[in-house]
Amino acid sequence: RALRIGLTGGIGSGKSTVAGLLRARGAHIVDTDAIAHRLTAPGGRAIAAIAAAFGPEFIGANGAMDRARMRERVFADPAERQRLEAILHPLIAEDTEAEAAAAPPGAPVVFDVPLLVEAGRRWRERVDRILVVDCTPATQIARVVARNGWTPEAVERVIAQQATREQRRAVADAVILNEGTDLDPLARAVDHVWKSWL
Ligand code: ATP
Repeated sequence: RALRIGLTGGIGSGKSTVAGLLRARGAHIVDTDAIAHRLTAPGGRAIAAIAAAFGPEFIGANGAMDRARMRERVFADPAERQRLEAILHPLIAEDTEAEAAAAPPGAPVVFDVPLLVEAGRRWRERVDRILVVDCTPATQIARVVARNGWTPEAVERVIAQQATREQRRAVADAVILNEGTDLDPLARAVDHVWKSWL
């Protein structure tokens, strides 16, 4: 069976950049965020179940889940969050497996999972190796301010909700430190991991 890698890291750490470098080396990338988003987009497979469980008012006029309304509903209520996750997680598992199955024979599969560590055992059990992209909060903030135009405080709030660097390191099989503003050292670090795992 081809190697299955879980790729994770905090906001702005450089996951997508690393995924691109791995793709260039022959990996098949499964973007789990895109898949989750598609499930709650107009016509998405989760829409009917969400309407049934939470009420039709959680589906907007365009047929997509009303994200703002749902965020408000689940934000301070773990039971409601669990109810939503009970709908989404099995569908995400199915769709990510379907995309993994579409990999060329023998190609390593890289699951890009921003919240892999936060998800507990759920993702860890599905991959052979965990690759963590790591950098300091200051670098995360600088990148996301530059990329998304957010305020530093908004980035800090997201960082505070995510796993810590230490929590990610604790489950990592390899850590790539991505502090710089240069792609060359990052590409070399990716090569190093790639060669040692294949
Ligand atoms: P998010 O979780 O927020 O989607 P991410 O972890 O996928 O973020 P990227 O989108 O890969 O992070 O990187 C964040 C920003 O920083 C991007 O604009 C990217 O181009 C830039 N960046 C990341 N690493 C480097 C690097 N080594 N050299 C130059 N730019 C970088």
